Formats: sequence, C-alpha cells, structure tokens
Amino acid sequence: SWSSSDSVISTDSAGEPVGPGGPYRVVLLGASGVGKTAFSSIFAGAADSMDSDDCELCGDEVCEKEIKVDGEPATITLLDTWDAETDHEWAQEHCMQTGDAYLLLYSVTDRASFLRASELRITLRRFRPAQHTPIILVGNKCDLVRRREVSVSEGRACAAVFDCKFIETSAAMQHNVWEAFHGMVRQLRLRRDSEEA
Ligand code: GDP
Repeated sequence: SWSSSDSVISTDSAGEPVGPGGPYRVVLLGASGVGKTAFSSIFAGAADSMDSDDCELCGDEVCEKEIKVDGEPATITLLDTWDAETDHEWAQEHCMQTGDAYLLLYSVTDRASFLRASELRITLRRFRPAQHTPIILVGNKCDLVRRREVSVSEGRACAAVFDCKFIETSAAMQHNVWEAFHGMVRQLRLRRDSEEA
C-alpha cells in the first residue's frame, strides 16, 4: 500500500498538517438535488448505478480513496455530509470547518441553487477568513441543455467574484467530474507548496 511509503506524512486528526499525498478532506456543498450524491457515487466507483449508495469500502456519506493526479498519488476523503434541509446549524458549521477543500455545487438548470452557492461561498469565507481554502464552483447538469437557467459566463463571472475555480460538469454523462477532483488535488498541492516555501 502506498500509505506505508516513507515519503508520506500520515495524519488522522483534524488540524494536523496534511502530508504530501493527503488525505485531503474534500466536502461537497450545495443545495438539495444539484448532484452531490451523483458526484460521490462516481468518486466511489458506483458510477454505473447513480442511485446506488452501497459501496463496499465506504459509508453512505464518507468515502476515502487514493487517486493518481499528474502521476502522483493523492488520497481524498470525500464528505457528502451536507444536508441543507434537515441539519442543525451546528452540523452545518461543523461541515464548513472540517474541509481542506470544497466542491461548491449548483445545477445549471436551477437558478435558486446558483444563488444558494453564492450564499454558501459567503458563509465559507466567514468561517475561514484567513485561509486560502481551495474551492471549486461546479455547475452540474450541463447535459440538460434545454433546461439551462444559468449560463457558462454567469458561472465563470461568479467564480471570479468569489475568487475560486470554476468548472461545468455532467454527473449523468460523467463529463468533467474527475477533472473537478483532479483540479481540487492540484489546488491543494499548490497551497501545500506555497506553505512549505
Ligand atoms: P443531491 O441532493 O445534491 O445529492 O443530488 P443527487 O445526486 O441526488 O441528484 C438529484 C437528481 O439529479 C437525481 O435524480 C440525479 O440522477 C440527477 N442528476 C445528478 N447529476 C445530474 C447530471 O449531471 N445530469 C442530469 N441530467 N441529472 C443529474
């Protein structure tokens, strides 16, 4: 297993420095119905059955996996624990504080979810004012061309205002989903490198 390699700084508890290969805690945020479950299914490897939530190695809401990005392994712990409707405020706050990085999802077919993503971005900034926490704004469901309510340029402009990266994806078509995860790892590595310098 790669985690026994001597080049790895292992870390288990929150607040410890994250080693070169992670594990990085990546949190999925976004309104209900935007595709968070679909994203975690793809990550967990249950992509052929988007509704399936049984993954042998993972829980329903947490999945840890090693992926290779630019030839280097990285371990991601993906947290799909956000529940905007039923969670208490403290649970949401906890969510906002536990991530090393955030995938902030909205659906391009749902303008309300786009506005919600902006609100979440503002809340994130409030919880992590001084930190350069990597965030990617993700416009999902780009396959639903005729139901689109949010344009690509609006998404891009929003990401520029909120100082985060931007990508459009389709979990249904498995388009750009891994690119989003890979982009996340690249940002985490950049942050790590600048902290080491
Ligand atoms: P969550 O509430 O954020 O976890 O959203 P889900 O992952 O449960 O997705 C809500 C619904 O949208 C489900 O019926 C999914 O199959 C569907 N869905 C998710 N991603 C996509 C996508 O990229 N394209 C299309 N057409 N449907 C999607």
